[in-house]
Amino acid sequence: MADKQSSNLLRHFVATVLDLEGGAVEPVEPQALEYAAPADVSRALGIAEFGSLSFGSEIIPGSTHVSFESDWIDRLSRLVANRGVTGTFTIDSTLPPISDPARVVERGITLNNAVYRLVDTNTSWTRYLYFAFRYTAVSDEQRDGITQVIINMATSSTPDDLIAPVLDAIYRMGGEVRTGRPDAAPGLPALWPKDRLTKAVHRAVSARVQDKLRQFLRGMLRRIARDQKRLIDYYEELRQESLARIIRQKSDEERERTRIDSIIREYRAKVADLSQKYKMTVQVDPIQTIEVISQVHRFKVLIRRRKAERTVDLDWNPFLKRLEPPPCDYNFTSGTTRVVCDDALHLVSPEAHAACPGCGKEYCRACAPSKCPRCGRA
Ligand SMILES: [Zn+2]
Ligand SMILES: [Zn+2]
Repeated sequence: MADKQSSNLLRHFVATVLDLEGGAVEPVEPQALEYAAPADVSRALGIAEFGSLSFGSEIIPGSTHVSFESDWIDRLSRLVANRGVTGTFTIDSTLPPISDPARVVERGITLNNAVYRLVDTNTSWTRYLYFAFRYTAVSDEQRDGITQVIINMATSSTPDDLIAPVLDAIYRMGGEVRTGRPDAAPGLPALWPKDRLTKAVHRAVSARVQDKLRQFLRGMLRRIARDQKRLIDYYEELRQESLARIIRQKSDEERERTRIDSIIREYRAKVADLSQKYKMTVQVDPIQTIEVISQVHRFKVLIRRRKAERTVDLDWNPFLKRLEPPPCDYNFTSGTTRVVCDDALHLVSPEAHAACPGCGKEYCRACAPSKCPRCGRA
């Protein structure tokens, strides 16, 4: 029964693939399929352009037999391999007018230590790159999942909330999205140079993976604390017993001292084992990259911190219907609260301007990504 079900499933899958690839299929009972396949598909699958495929336990003479045990899964995956892995799409919906731009900015930005003013709005085209990654974290347990990031090439904003509506529209391929780039897109920003893009994606993905693994890490720290406590209790008891024997002069002191030394050595070795047991590795692999081109309302905002000022561009996308979050110049997080640094007027998330755990002084991680400028702590 299970065999029949799985071969029906396989027949359905092959029929769907042939249909989507521009072929024609006709099911023939009990477990076969007559087909006509376009030339490139027949080449990729290694079959004639017309014929029949059989799927059941019985091999039908004159037809090609397809099963999970054969190399058909490889042939099919070769055929669909890179489909959906990359692509370019244009959001084609018209921009509604913005009635109260100042209010849009007010709702979209919170600056902890600076003032800002809306200078200008206009409409422009922008380019987003969307990335999906699979991550796998392994220590004494394992966690895996998918993390996504979308970067606006004009503003460096990473509006996480834009991902779901954009992907949804792409999968449905409704009237609002079409494949390819528009014929004319005034103001379309260039793709970032490879180094800049790699650095941004790396930081954005690290921050998001860390966020997703926070609970997993917390659980791991709890298990480490529990194991450490057990070790300490066990060896402390052994040591106390030895000491008690020395005090009561029930045993040769020299021998007990040696015993205590070996207890301490063993304890240290067990602690080293623990850190080996809980050593964590995280692997991150890219699975999808999509380019999305869209018209946006662009807001020019002047930011002033003490005597210095800087203008930033922020976009309003019709799929998000609010201002995209201000960029974080360090780890590209998606919040609306930012701190402005004194030296370069970077906009960074509060955690990227947090106090140094070494000396307690707050500093900008975009200015000093690897260590604290005051005490040098990494
Ligand atoms: Zn420090
Ligand atoms: Zn800075």
